[in-house]
Amino acid sequence: MTVFELISKLGASGIKLWLEGEQLRFKAPKGMLTQDLRDQLVAKKPEVIAFLQGTKVGEESLPIKPVARDTPLELSFSQQRLWFLDQLEPGTASYNIPVALRLTGHLNVEVLRQVFEEIVHRHEAIRTTFIVKDEKAYQVVQEPYPWHLSIFRDLSELSQQDRDRALIELANNEASRSFDLTDGTQSRYRRTRLMRTRLVRLTAHDDPSQEEHVLFVTMHHIISDGWSIGVLINEVATLYAAFIENKPSPLAPLAVQYADYAKWQRDWLSGAVLDHKMDYWREQLHGVAVLELPTDFMRPPVQTYNGTSLDFTLSAELTAQLNQLCLTQGVTLFMLLLSAFKVLLHRYSGQTDICVGTPIANRGRSELEPLIGFFANTLALRTDLSGNPNFVDLLSAVQDVTLAAYSHQDVPFERLVEELGVDRNMSYAPLCQVVFVLQNAPADYKVDLAGLQVEKVVLPNSSAKFDLSLSLTEIDNKLVGGIEYNTDLYCAETIACYLRHYENILQAVVADINVPICHVDLLDHAEKQQQLVDWNRVQSDAFCKSTIHHEFEKVAERYAEKTALVFAGQRLNYKELNLRANQLAHHLIEKGVKIGDIVGLNVNRSIDMIVGILGILKAGAVYVPLDPSSPLDRINYILEDANISLLVTQRGLTSQLVSESRQLIYLDEWQAITGKLPTTAIDNLNLPVTDEDLAYIIYTSGTTGRPKGVLLPHRNVIRLFSATKEWFDFNEHDVWTMFHSFAFDFSVWEMWGALLHGGRLVIVPHELTRSPQEFYQLLLTENVTVLNQTPSAFGQLVLADESYMAVPDAADALSLRYVIFGGELLDFSILERWCDRRGLDQPQLINMYGITETTVHTTYHRIGLDDLKDGSSIIGRKIPDLTLYILDAQLQLLPLGVAGEIYIGGAGVAQGYLNNSELTNQRFIYHSVMGSPKQRLYRSGDLARYLPNGNVEYLGRIDDQVKIRGFRVELGEIEAVISDYKGVQ
Ligand code: AMP
Ligand code: MG
Repeated sequence: MTVFELISKLGASGIKLWLEGEQLRFKAPKGMLTQDLRDQLVAKKPEVIAFLQGTKVGEESLPIKPVARDTPLELSFSQQRLWFLDQLEPGTASYNIPVALRLTGHLNVEVLRQVFEEIVHRHEAIRTTFIVKDEKAYQVVQEPYPWHLSIFRDLSELSQQDRDRALIELANNEASRSFDLTDGTQSRYRRTRLMRTRLVRLTAHDDPSQEEHVLFVTMHHIISDGWSIGVLINEVATLYAAFIENKPSPLAPLAVQYADYAKWQRDWLSGAVLDHKMDYWREQLHGVAVLELPTDFMRPPVQTYNGTSLDFTLSAELTAQLNQLCLTQGVTLFMLLLSAFKVLLHRYSGQTDICVGTPIANRGRSELEPLIGFFANTLALRTDLSGNPNFVDLLSAVQDVTLAAYSHQDVPFERLVEELGVDRNMSYAPLCQVVFVLQNAPADYKVDLAGLQVEKVVLPNSSAKFDLSLSLTEIDNKLVGGIEYNTDLYCAETIACYLRHYENILQAVVADINVPICHVDLLDHAEKQQQLVDWNRVQSDAFCKSTIHHEFEKVAERYAEKTALVFAGQRLNYKELNLRANQLAHHLIEKGVKIGDIVGLNVNRSIDMIVGILGILKAGAVYVPLDPSSPLDRINYILEDANISLLVTQRGLTSQLVSESRQLIYLDEWQAITGKLPTTAIDNLNLPVTDEDLAYIIYTSGTTGRPKGVLLPHRNVIRLFSATKEWFDFNEHDVWTMFHSFAFDFSVWEMWGALLHGGRLVIVPHELTRSPQEFYQLLLTENVTVLNQTPSAFGQLVLADESYMAVPDAADALSLRYVIFGGELLDFSILERWCDRRGLDQPQLINMYGITETTVHTTYHRIGLDDLKDGSSIIGRKIPDLTLYILDAQLQLLPLGVAGEIYIGGAGVAQGYLNNSELTNQRFIYHSVMGSPKQRLYRSGDLARYLPNGNVEYLGRIDDQVKIRGFRVELGEIEAVISDYKGVQ
């Protein structure tokens, strides 16, 4: 039977046949694959391989033939790439392959020398160097030459400790000494061609059988690969055994050499054959995305190769379970382990298009098997993990893609990169940033010769060609291996998490192969406890059962004569402010206002603004701020949406408002308010308003094009100050600015920060909020101590500070104690110059992340020197009476460092949105985070991650919300307005 007939027969009986590495594999329903069929296939292995590799049957690929050595010898594709990389960075040792062999027993150094001489003689690759002719590189095979090998260092006199240290130093030196690819022409005796050896004596013993040596063999990758190391060690063993007995080399002569392969590869992989194979890869890898795993450090603009590895071992029990699973699923261990790895990468990156590289020996032809040379290739295995598939379905997708990749395996990876014209971002390795390896043979060979034991020593690894490479080997019934990682991107703790979570995925899959990949529980119990308990302890304060105005009244009594408000030359003390607010409240009640009524407040920045707010609260009502500087349409929309029947305002502001039957009260016509009031109407009212009654409704931009009103009770504000007390010592000596619009909740913090502590509130005139210089002057003249700013506003102020301080003899008169940032992302780099001048203690700089829906602030972070070095924006820890979770789309906890959405629970969470239960139920969920008690959580739409120290790093938005000078704007709202215009489609 021809191979074609054999294979058609397979198809008919539902048997699958594929290549994995160099092994033929079969998959068949029980009893279908007869021994006879299997034998026939194995007998025709080379043809079957040719078939599987995509060569048409009947048109076997070209045989590899020796080529004349007097013509210029081309480089193979992979050599070409390494040559190119070497030109880019001459003298790099990144592509050294260092090997160390421990030789135990009596060593005959002269025989070992002969062995290497013979190996160099046998393998042209080792004698190859490179020349450039007409801007093209060629290989030149040097004549065989004598090999030099003697004891390079004798460490036998040293103590064990010094010896170990010296050995590591030698190993590092060897690994980091570079090769000159063009060298080799000068001295016949130089040992610095593309392979070098160094022999070190460790111990000398009276008993020769106890002698110990270490032999360092270092080759450049351009003439070697992982498989070649195995060839080398076997040849050393075989030749040493023969030579020590004065026998000739028992090794069969090599049929072809590396240069012949290079030529063959160039001839064969061209034209139609290449096109055909390339089509597959083009389709397979079209538009593949860069895998952006979260990193511990900022990614350098150009990929670096500094690395190390972290090892791990899976138990024999788990290993056996995995092997068993492979049997029942009809997949290979490679496929199973790779699928689990892809789940890990998906969960860490949040990406669904996952492409992982895997090296293959690429020695499909038997004549290549005994060669030393660079044959290894990388296969890019891409899988779509979208839609939360069950693991078993992912496994089958991985199986398919692996099989297909094997059968197109001989397209050199470097040709692919070229061909696909992948967008070359120098920060990343091309096509695959992450690699998975399942090694068949254990990495540490051990050969026993008569009297001499040769064993590969595992060298400390100091480089990484990819972001991460997971490699595993089955040794003594256990899967062992580790992750090699780039140390410019990751620290060891993070890699330890990867390994732990990888194992957890494997465990979950063994338990249930049908588990949906997004539901696999990555975290250990301890990791969950850390996030659920340690970082989410809730301290609540029973004394918060009060109202804003009641707390204010207590303060007003205590500090009656102290200045409470300052605005453009006007001043009001606490007593006066309280009195006026009482009068307004009495008037409102006379007008029919009842507890819980919604009252609009549309006033310019002025003393009236605070009188208005306090008066409304004292009347038991809820204020809705309407900023006259915001667009008229918005004000009218809010008036209607909140169904406002009573508006507290000023003359001249109302002419353009839709009036309907609304009552209007003008604060700038005070006579009309107080005129009819009885004289007793200056006292506090003491209405039965409770902490759970609403205090204010602030409208924020809405995705659907309409702003929505956030409902906030009194207690949310009271507890905000008591819960943050441990961080601040606000008091009656503080001077605060009211910088922000009263329609922005930062103002709630500013007003009550001052007025609930006996401090002074300086209402900043509108013009000054737009003039950093004048505002800066105000900070000086009013001796402001607490400043709240959005980072964009503060950026301007830093400049004003700089020019002020640049004036000779400028007295540093700033009295600031705290600068509190909020409202938008803080780029710490804007603080550098400020810190250089003023340090970080006076004032303290504090970043607070917050949301209207969770009452102004949610987290706290005191900015330290370390923050300025790093490009990230830390928002720190939650306020003690809140909970903060970073969750994935399935509402599960994430590993530290992995991006997810912020959810906030606890005493700061708003009641919801006014008259919009649908949206309320969408954004305020009632949920039990991984088994902890159910709680109300606000879903923020903000992306963040936990750092190992428990701080939260802010990363951005999930949706299209943007912040303009701290103002929250949903692009959807703008979109809705634009598309309302005729002619806009
Ligand atoms: P608002 O409701 O207007 O306070 O806007 C809340 C949004 O502002 C949050 O969801 C964040 O997107 C953003 N935000 C507030 N404070 C910060 C901060 N400190 N760092 C980064 N973003 C912030
Ligand atoms: Mg805010």
